Amino acid sequence: MKQETRVVRAGRDKGHYRGSVNPPVYHVSTVLFDSMAEFLTAGKPMPGKLIYGRWGTPTSFVLADALAELEGGVGCALFPSGAAAVAAALLAFVEPGDHLLIPDNVYSSTRRICNDMLPRFQVKTTYYDPTIGAGIARLIAPKTRVVFVEAPGSLTMEMPDVPAIAKAASAAGAITMMDNTWASPLYFKPFTHGVDVSIQAGTKYIVGHSDAMLGSVTANQKAWPAIDRATYLLGQCIAPDDAYLAQRGLRTLAVRLARHQESALKVAEWLERQPAIERVLYPALSSDPGHALWRRDFTGASGLLSIVLKPVAREKVEAMVDGLKLFGIGASWGGFESLVCPSRAVRTATALDPARPILRFHIGIEAVDDLLADLKAGLDRLA
Ligand SMILES: *Cc1c(COP(=O)(O)O)cnc(C)c1O
Repeated sequence: MKQETRVVRAGRDKGHYRGSVNPPVYHVSTVLFDSMAEFLTAGKPMPGKLIYGRWGTPTSFVLADALAELEGGVGCALFPSGAAAVAAALLAFVEPGDHLLIPDNVYSSTRRICNDMLPRFQVKTTYYDPTIGAGIARLIAPKTRVVFVEAPGSLTMEMPDVPAIAKAASAAGAITMMDNTWASPLYFKPFTHGVDVSIQAGTKYIVGHSDAMLGSVTANQKAWPAIDRATYLLGQCIAPDDAYLAQRGLRTLAVRLARHQESALKVAEWLERQPAIERVLYPALSSDPGHALWRRDFTGASGLLSIVLKPVAREKVEAMVDGLKLFGIGASWGGFESLVCPSRAVRTATALDPARPILRFHIGIEAVDDLLADLKAGLDRLA
């Protein structure tokens, strides 16, 4: 089956929902048992079995099964946000004295947990240039437990060589953990590229409608027991309404992404021709330094891209951004609508020129000509 078919069917085959296409929203904490004997034998977490609300419900099982199948892992744990998924995935593996390798363009909340919380458990982090490739081997120390990748990374969109990094990590006995949110489970298959643990901020494309928070951690055979156990110990679970919204959003992921990709490429190519713009950061552009890696490893590009402006006064950038009619100013992305987000990126292993402002755009599913007209008026204000 092609993945456009799988995304429609995944996770739906096990339920008996009296004929309804979507699973019911199960609001449940306590589950009642017929006898003491049944309670004592059934009362421990088991995949796909309704025993206690925190250990999964028929609504969340559909979503977890679907994401595991689409990403290609053996199991999937669900979290109330992408940030919670990253935190649990890291905590599943680290011990005092351990070392982490984290890309310099990692999502901001991942950086924050590595800087502000893990040091309390004597876990040290080294940030690396995301374009390091096989050179990561030089940074791997005897206590390196996790090598993290994000492809492309947040805001500056550098594309790592995921298989090369995963190969070096695995040779050194480290876990390769990936934030796969940009490509979604459809456009990059982490486990066939050497990744052990794949994280999705499901808040973005999986929910897809900017109305619920979700995180997921999918793992291969080697990493799944640790992820499963950490999820249980940390008491993580998701609300049934959010599970419902996410599995509902998932069914249209393939058509939404196709439209995001088509429009984003048109917008990126147009932006690249505008004199006020120094660079467009989008690996699907043939001029992007990460394009060859993207072509080799990915089957598509999503709707998130950034631009670097030539040096310009802040008031002009504000005039451009504040006057946009179709691009809302806001965090997050992956919904149906277009967004613009001014960058507050922090870098410690690579350089960022503060004189050249970065703006991140999410290209929504509106008519692309309307988006281009809005951006053109914005660049006129900037000039
Ligand atoms: C948004 C985002 C997250 C965090 O997800 P939340 O659901 O907002 O907690 C993690 N990684 C990436 C790449 C993101 O864009």
